[in-house]
Amino acid sequence: MPDPVQLYQQRLKRKVHGAAFIFYTRLLFRSGWFAVEPVFTFLSSYPEAIKAQVQSLVAQGRLAEVLAKRYPEPLHEIQNDKSLYQFTQELKQRFVKSSPPVSKVCFDSKIHLDNSLGLHSFVSRVQGGKLKAKQEIRISALFKQLPFPLLKMVVVHELAHLREKDHNKAFYQLCQHMEPQYHQLEFDLRLFLTLRLLEGKAL
Ligand SMILES: [Zn+2]
Repeated sequence: MPDPVQLYQQRLKRKVHGAAFIFYTRLLFRSGWFAVEPVFTFLSSYPEAIKAQVQSLVAQGRLAEVLAKRYPEPLHEIQNDKSLYQFTQELKQRFVKSSPPVSKVCFDSKIHLDNSLGLHSFVSRVQGGKLKAKQEIRISALFKQLPFPLLKMVVVHELAHLREKDHNKAFYQLCQHMEPQYHQLEFDLRLFLTLRLLEGKAL
């Protein structure tokens, strides 16, 4: 069982780190330093050839255009906790029915996305409370503004964590089972985050 004090300290630390990250990236952006390699912040684990392609898109100022083309309908209807809860439960019922019930699903505006931990930093963990039966899924409120397939990808990611704690092979297989385009969507999510970073927007 996690120590509540330790848990609180960890959360506080994450919060402070998140705020500091946003502050410094903005500072770097304004100072011009940022032009060095911002592309790699969210793409560090991808092959060099992919990174080079993205960097070239950024250099041409075409990243936003490419994403808009790929996701022509950026706004979706899941804008509140109730609809997020329903959507998540439908997916759970369909794919991971036997996993522990999820008591709460909500958007959380306090989750800030940073690069240090890769995907996991912007997808909150399933919080195991005192009772195993009480599972919560918190999704960054930023996903209200992102295209629907990316929101779905994050929900799928969180649901897969009900079965697999780590990002191992079984975890990604489960993700792909729930969403066949999972890997492409995760990459695209990273592109959206890269774009926001370049535009100096909050993550
Ligand atoms: Zn994860």
